Amino acid sequence: MKNRAPLQPNALYPLPLTAIKPTGWLRRQLQIQADGLSGHLDEFWPDLSANSGWLGGTGESWERGPYFLDGLVPLAYLLGDPALIGKATKWVGWTLSHQRPDGSIGPERNKDWWPNMVMLKALTQYQEFSGDPRVIPLMQRYFRYQAAHLAERPLQEWAKFRWADEVVSILWLYNRTGDASLLELARSLQHQGYNWKAESAHLPFTRKTTKEELGLKPGVSNTEIALSAHGVNNAMALKTSAVWSLVSGDASDRQAARQQLGEIEKYHLLPSGIFSCDEHLAGPDPVQGTELCSVVEAQFSLEQMIAILGDASLADRLEKIAFNALPATFSADMWAHQYDQQPNQVLCTLKDRDWTTNGPESNIFGLEPNFGCCTANMHQGWPKLAASLWMATPDDGLAAVAYSPSDLSTVAGKSTRVHIVEETGYPFQSEIRFSVDPTTPVEFPLLLRIPGWAQEATVTVNGHRLEGVEAAQFYSIRRRWQRGDQVVLTLPMRVRLSRGYRDSVIVERGPLVFSLRIGEDWSKIEKGMSRPAKTPAVDWEVRPTTPWNYGLIIERTDPVHAFEVVEKPIGNSPFSPAGAPVELRAKGRLIPEWKLENNSAGTLPKSPATSSERVETLTLIPYGSAKLRISAFPELVN
Ligand SMILES: [Zn+2]
Repeated sequence: MKNRAPLQPNALYPLPLTAIKPTGWLRRQLQIQADGLSGHLDEFWPDLSANSGWLGGTGESWERGPYFLDGLVPLAYLLGDPALIGKATKWVGWTLSHQRPDGSIGPERNKDWWPNMVMLKALTQYQEFSGDPRVIPLMQRYFRYQAAHLAERPLQEWAKFRWADEVVSILWLYNRTGDASLLELARSLQHQGYNWKAESAHLPFTRKTTKEELGLKPGVSNTEIALSAHGVNNAMALKTSAVWSLVSGDASDRQAARQQLGEIEKYHLLPSGIFSCDEHLAGPDPVQGTELCSVVEAQFSLEQMIAILGDASLADRLEKIAFNALPATFSADMWAHQYDQQPNQVLCTLKDRDWTTNGPESNIFGLEPNFGCCTANMHQGWPKLAASLWMATPDDGLAAVAYSPSDLSTVAGKSTRVHIVEETGYPFQSEIRFSVDPTTPVEFPLLLRIPGWAQEATVTVNGHRLEGVEAAQFYSIRRRWQRGDQVVLTLPMRVRLSRGYRDSVIVERGPLVFSLRIGEDWSKIEKGMSRPAKTPAVDWEVRPTTPWNYGLIIERTDPVHAFEVVEKPIGNSPFSPAGAPVELRAKGRLIPEWKLENNSAGTLPKSPATSSERVETLTLIPYGSAKLRISAFPELVN
């Protein structure tokens, strides 16, 4: 659905949520998720029990119910799983049938606008999947209620920093109703909300933030400084200026969105593609952590930004986070997750680390390590990626934004039904095949994103190679498509090396980051966790069974061939050490003086480093497959 005037146009438009079905490894991954915590959490976690305020009970009445639904709704419908759809419908149904006469929604005792913002995101998705006619009238009544009360009860705390999340839902409704009062409400939210644009040119936090800077003392509530350095707020805020540009029509807002992303990457980017925040911005050291909520919220922000701005590089970033940082922070069966993941993560135990503000539970794998926000919010990561693989172009074409096996059924070229089957082992393999089947021959542009790293990409249509395919762009194929047309996109995945913290080496191949495979010993934590008793979920510590303190030897005259690539079939659990579908073999030596410091890998030896230990063959696996890993390596002088 295109933007209604006076909104500015998008570069690309999200497709109706029913258009894309994940297949292949991606569908299996969603099934793993459904068989794990996402499909069962409400059966035993008190905050999502029948006593939730979002089901009319007296229990948790803030963000956890809506967070859960924001991921459960797309997961259930993308899998077409009747039991999960039943659960999602039950939760959404209570809100839909309990709107108060004044238009307010949700638990009566909640007076915070923030959790309602999340519920609106869940409701818009539910409406697209189900067509439930109650959603739009409920939203109209709610927004009228909010507009009438916003002056006396302005945005505060989380809501003040996350206002753009509500504007996304307001614009969704405006495009369906054209009610101009909605744009007035959006302006009120922007006026009351935190001004992220003002700091986009120069991020005020340029290194690991300290507790003193944040003003966090026992008994003192969060200040605005703490909220503006907060990782999840920053992840959500990445989209703010892009979303606002649709209302403002001001080109400087679009520029601010790109600047804001650039600033946070300049000072806080980690090898996994996400920035550090444990749980405030924490600088570039690869032993700093990233909170899981920030991972999934950065993905959602990038999905919004890709649609509005249309930059291919934003989709490179989305894939990097989704294929690396997201799977890395879950156990392979998705029954346990971390609060904070580390790129150089050599020990996950119930002990303090040098986090900016988080506690000792933060990097263990479990049900609700450190704090339960991620337990509630983590479910949106995979389903929203699946829903964003394809978008529509403003000239009635289709754009492949990110790549994974999928099945697309939609309309192109005004009104012709088109079915596209995308078969691929991407991100592990380099070939992507599209079968294009319009019901009748029809002309439309098919845009294929060529990643920035894919310098030698090729595109063929029915076996004929096309000209002008270049990296870091959307490549457009405009032709009259016929039933049975075959498009093959090949994205050769050479091993790439880049420099990281203290001149370390980061190894990438295609969209995947590669990490040292370390033997993992998983042991259950029997006590000491702040969690409810008696659940089917288990908390785990993970200890290394093999050395981790290696440097890499890189033949600088021929760095790419320093790595042997071993490809395997993609099995049922690609994001596990044993199931890794790609391995790299490299040469390295132990660095004996590189040891644990405060339960993390100690100070990263500055490269070039030296070692007189024997040369060994090392195995590197995808970052997302390795639950213990080194991802920023010292480079050894050979
Ligand atoms: Zn969280």
